[in-house]
Amino acid sequence: MVSIESSQFDHMQLDDHHCFLCGKDMGSCATEEHVFPKWLQSRYDLWNQTTRLLNETKIQYKNMKVPCCAGCNNEDLSKLENEINEATSAGYEALMQVDDLKLYQWAAKIYYGILRKELTLKHDRTDMNSPSILASTDFQHFKMMHFIMQSIRKPVVFPSGAPYSVLVANLHTPSNVGNFDFRDNMLGHVIKIRLGNIGFIVAFEDGAINEHSYGNYLRKVAGRKLHPIQFDELFARIIYQNFLIDSQLNFVLAMHEDEMIPISIDVVGSVRVGERDQKEFAEFFWEFCNYWFEANDLTFDDVFKPPNLVVSWMSDVNDNLILLDENGDRVKELE
Ligand SMILES: [Zn+2]
Repeated sequence: MVSIESSQFDHMQLDDHHCFLCGKDMGSCATEEHVFPKWLQSRYDLWNQTTRLLNETKIQYKNMKVPCCAGCNNEDLSKLENEINEATSAGYEALMQVDDLKLYQWAAKIYYGILRKELTLKHDRTDMNSPSILASTDFQHFKMMHFIMQSIRKPVVFPSGAPYSVLVANLHTPSNVGNFDFRDNMLGHVIKIRLGNIGFIVAFEDGAINEHSYGNYLRKVAGRKLHPIQFDELFARIIYQNFLIDSQLNFVLAMHEDEMIPISIDVVGSVRVGERDQKEFAEFFWEFCNYWFEANDLTFDDVFKPPNLVVSWMSDVNDNLILLDENGDRVKELE
C-alpha cells in the first residue's frame, strides 16, 4: 500500500484540453460533458432556461459543459447517468434503493462541474483581461471532493465511514410550484435538487453530521410526503449547520498501484459544530426561503420572534413533526 500526501489534483491542468474528471490530456478523445445531463434537461425542458453563477450572471443550462475525455464520458459517467435517470423516473422508493455514494457522485459532478466551468468564464465577459469568476487558488478547496469523485471511475472505500450526507425526501407536487429546482451553496458546501416528487440534498464534506441530525428528521417522516416548503427549510437548516462547522476534516488517502484495489479514504478527526444563534439562523432561513415568505406574506418579524423563536414548517413549538398536504395545510400531528 502506498500512502500519498496529495492527489493528482495538485498537478492537474484546469484548462479545456484536460478532462475535468480524470485530469488527463484528452488529445483526440476530447468530448464535452453536460454538467446538467441531457436527460435532465429534456425531462424538465431546461435547455434554454438559465442558472445563476457566482458572479450573479446567468448561463443557459445547455451551455454549461465541461471538457471530458471519451472514456469518462461514454463509460463511467454514462453508466452513472443511466442509473440516476432510471431511479428518478421510477420515483422515491427506487431512489432510496440507490447507494448514497452514487447520489454523491451525481450531485458532485454537477457542483464541481459548475465550479470548473466558472474557472474558465471571465468575471466580466465584456473585458478580455477580466479574471475568471472563480480563481484557481479558491479551487484548491475542492481537492477532496474531486478525489471522492474518482469513485465514479475506480473503487473507493471509507474505512471510518463516509464523510458526507445524502438526504432523500418524498415530496408533494403542488400545481403552483415548478417541477424542477436546483440550488448550490458554497458557504455550506451543499446542494439541493428537486425533481418532481423527489428531492435530495447532498452535503459534500460535513463529516456526516447532517446524516445524523436531519437524517433523523427524515427517518421520523418515514417516507411520507413533504411539501417543497419543508424541503427548502431543511436545506436552509443544513446550510446553517454547515456554516457553524468550525473544524476541517482531515483525510488520509491510500492507493495501490493495482487500480483494482480500492482507494482508501479515511477521515481523521471529527466535525465540531459551533453554538447556534436563533436570530442568525432566522437570517439564513429568510435568505434561502425568501420565495416562500413572500408567497405567504410573511415579514422577518413574523419569521423571528425575539429572543429565540423561529417559525418552522418542519416541527411545531413542542417539537412535534408537522405534516402538510399538497396545499401546504397542516394535516396531522404526530407524537
Ligand atoms: Zn477522463
